[in-house]
Amino acid sequence: MTTTHSRDPIGTPGVAWGAAEIAIWRSRQIRKRSYEADVLGVIERLRTRFDVVQYGCLDYAPDRYPLFAIRSRQWREELPCALVTGGVHGYETSGVHGALQFVDQHAARYDGRINLLVAPCVSPWAYERIHRWNPQAVDPNRSFHDDSLREDSLAPESAALMQLVAPLRDRVLVHVDLHETTDTDESEFRPALAARDGKPHEPGEIPDGFYLVDDSGHPQPGFQQAVISAVAQVTHIAPADGNGEIIGSPVVAPGVIRYPLRQLGLCAGITDARYRTTTEVYPDSPRATPEQCNDAQAAAVCAAIDFALAQKG
Ligand SMILES: [Zn+2]
Repeated sequence: MTTTHSRDPIGTPGVAWGAAEIAIWRSRQIRKRSYEADVLGVIERLRTRFDVVQYGCLDYAPDRYPLFAIRSRQWREELPCALVTGGVHGYETSGVHGALQFVDQHAARYDGRINLLVAPCVSPWAYERIHRWNPQAVDPNRSFHDDSLREDSLAPESAALMQLVAPLRDRVLVHVDLHETTDTDESEFRPALAARDGKPHEPGEIPDGFYLVDDSGHPQPGFQQAVISAVAQVTHIAPADGNGEIIGSPVVAPGVIRYPLRQLGLCAGITDARYRTTTEVYPDSPRATPEQCNDAQAAAVCAAIDFALAQKG
């Protein structure tokens, strides 16, 4: 194998990657930031006010990534649960830091009203490398299905989260999964996906603004609207494109599209929560700062929980 520049395409057009191509891809992924410093350090400081549980450990030699979730200290069996997940896509920075910011700045107001379970960085190897996939070139956010629970799972990030949540599955009232849609989705990750799968890359558009993905199986338009209204105070909502769509899906309400969450193996489908959504912050807008992106994520979580609690009465 000749030495290849990182921008050289991997593999043969029209042919899906095998183990050799995945190994080349993995060898090009460089650690660019520290999970320990950025995430574990913040979780450490939250331990004075919240319970922290380790729910797994990813063994990616020579690296090891302990996985942590943050729980309400006043956990009460009779209360419903709110689940917040971030960093299922490691490169989506405000998903991770928005989840941590929510815990730090807003979680206390829900004491005695709802039990909080927050997994802020589901895919730490990808957080460090600012990538979408795990070391197996697998997208954890297409892997929340039973196959991932097998011994030879290619998505241990997804499996660990599913196992953490399994005992609570029917007690989760609201689940917010925090994501971003970035310019690199179009410039880097969609072409990589096409190459990996041996398919042609069809150019697409990146929406300028925030949007939500509802569950087409169990849509909750009032809930999605409440989240959009809250986030609109913080950052702008993505308009529909010329076809009335956002990333190829019809816009059903301002800033809202729908996916069959469970069928696609998406994180937002891992519980039976009545209220579930995936946030999509746009961090590359000239009109959005990193702080605003974190604020938008935290505002979305608060609005989601507030709506769920209000409906419950
Ligand atoms: Zn994502």
